[in-house]
Amino acid sequence: MVRQASSRVETGNVKDSSRYLNYLRTLADLAAMAGIVAVQFKRMLNKELSHFSESSKSGNQISEYICSTFLDKQQELDLPSLRIEDAVAATANVDVRAVKKKDRVQRGPAAMSHISGVKRPLTHTNSFTGERVPLHGVETPHEEQLGKLLSDIDKWGIDIFRIGELSNNRPLTCVAYTAFQSRDLLKSLAIPPKTFVTFMMTLEDHYVKDNPFHNSLHAADVTQSTHTLLNTPALESVFTPLEITAALFAATIHDVDHPGLTNQFLINSSSELALMYNDESVLENHHLAVAFKLLQNEGCDIFVNMTKKQRQTLRKMVIDMVLSTDMSKHMSLLADLKTMVETKKVAGSGVLLLDNYTDRIQVLENLVHCADLSNPTKPLPLYRKWVGLLMEEFFLQGDRERDQNMDISPMCDRHSATIEKSQVGFIDYIVHPLWETWADLVHPDAQDILDTLEENRDWYQSMIPPSPPPAEQQQLASEQQSDDRIRFQVTLEEGDESGETGEGGGETDENAGEAGM
Ligand code: 5GP
Ligand code: MN
Repeated sequence: MVRQASSRVETGNVKDSSRYLNYLRTLADLAAMAGIVAVQFKRMLNKELSHFSESSKSGNQISEYICSTFLDKQQELDLPSLRIEDAVAATANVDVRAVKKKDRVQRGPAAMSHISGVKRPLTHTNSFTGERVPLHGVETPHEEQLGKLLSDIDKWGIDIFRIGELSNNRPLTCVAYTAFQSRDLLKSLAIPPKTFVTFMMTLEDHYVKDNPFHNSLHAADVTQSTHTLLNTPALESVFTPLEITAALFAATIHDVDHPGLTNQFLINSSSELALMYNDESVLENHHLAVAFKLLQNEGCDIFVNMTKKQRQTLRKMVIDMVLSTDMSKHMSLLADLKTMVETKKVAGSGVLLLDNYTDRIQVLENLVHCADLSNPTKPLPLYRKWVGLLMEEFFLQGDRERDQNMDISPMCDRHSATIEKSQVGFIDYIVHPLWETWADLVHPDAQDILDTLEENRDWYQSMIPPSPPPAEQQQLASEQQSDDRIRFQVTLEEGDESGETGEGGGETDENAGEAGM
C-alpha cells in the first residue's frame, strides 16, 4: 500500500517535473531566439557602420557615436571572441558580469543612503492653496491660447515649444494634466486632481532648467507623443487604465534630474551616480529613484487610492519602461519587436492580441522608446529645433571634457561635429529601423509618421555641406555618387567589401554646419 502510494506520488512528480522542464526548455528556446536575433542585429549594425566609418573622418565620428550610444558594451568588455552561446546568454539577461561586479562594488563609499538631486520639499510652494485646480493644470495669463493648443493633444506634431511659452514654463504639468484628464484617468484610478498637479509641478521642478535638451520640455514632448501613440487604432482597448497610466507616468518621469551628461561620461568620470548604480543604466536608474522618492513628498502621492497590488504592478511596469529608455538597450528592444511583428497575432476586431505580461510590456517599452526617439518624425521646424538643442547639450559636455583633458566624446566636439550628416546616420541606422518596425506592428496607423521621417531624412541629406574630395579620391567619389543613401540592410549575408557607403570619402570636417534653428 505504502509503496504503491509513494510510487504514484513519484510518477505524478516525474510527470509534473518533466512538464515543467519542457516548459522551461520552451522558455529558454524563446529567450535564446530573441538573444540570437539581438546578436545578429548588433553584428549587422557593426558591419554596416564599419563601412560607413571608413568613408570619411566624420563618418568615423558618427559611427563611434552610434556604437557608443546604441549598443551595449557587454560584447566589448567580456566577450572579446564572441561565441554565439555566450552572446545568447548575455542578451538573455544572464548577467555574466555579476561576479566581477560584486568585487568592484566593495570599493564604493560605505553609505549612499540618500538619493542625490532630490530637493528638500519646500512646504506647499508647489501645491494649490486655493480650491480650484486651474483649467489646464497651470496658472497662466494665457489660459485661452493654451487651451487652443492643448485641444490638439491627440495630434502628432503639436507645437510643444509654444505650449512651453504659454504655460508659464510648465509644459510637463499641463500636458500631463490634459492627457490624464482627456482619458478620464484621474477618475478611474481615483487620483485627486490637486495631488496630481502638486506632484507634476514638483516633478517638473526636478528637471534641470539649464539643460538645453534634457529639460521638462523634452519630458512634455515624450509624454504627449506617448499619449498619441497609445491612441493608435491597432491598440484600441488593448491596454487597461493601469497600463496606460504606467506608460504616461513613465514618460513624464523618464529623464527627471538628468544632468545633461551621457551615461558614458558619468561612468568615465567615476561620478557619484555611476558608483551608486555600478555603471549599469546609471541615468535611467536615477530618474526612477528620484521620481519614486518624490511621490513620498507630502501631498504628492498620486497613487494613494490604489490597492497595494495595483501599486506594485504599476511600479514594476514603470521601472521596466524607464529602464528601456537606456539607448544601449535599443538593439535588443528592436530585435524583440521584430520577432513580435513576425509572429503577430490579431484579435477578431483587428487589434493586436497581447495575452501575457511579456508581450504587453514589450509593446509599451517600445512605444515609450519610439516616443523618446520621435524628434526626427515631427514636422521639420520642430525637429530642427530639437537637433539644435541636443547638439548644444552634447557640445557643453564636450567643452567640459576638453577643459578636464578627457577624450572628447563622439559628436560632442563643437569644432568637428557634422550635424547634418550625423542626423542622416542616426535616422538610417537607428530611428528608421525602429519606426519601420513599429509601423509594421500597427500597420497602417503609422504611415504618415514614417513618411515625415523619410522627408526629414532627405532634407538633412540635402543639407550636408559639400566638400571637394582630394584628387586621388575623385574618381571613386563620382562612381559612388549614384548611391548616396546610407542604407541599413537587413541581411545576414557576408557583405561585399567593395565599400558601398554613400560618401565619397576624403571629407574635411571643417565644413561642419551649425544646426539649423
Ligand atoms: P534620452 O537621452 O532623451 O533618453 O534619449 C535620447 C537620446 O537619443 C539622446 O541622448 C541622443 O543620444 C539620441 N538622440 C535623440 N535625438 C537625437 C537626434 O536628433 N540626433 C542625434 N544624433 N541623437 C539623438
Ligand atoms: Mn528622453
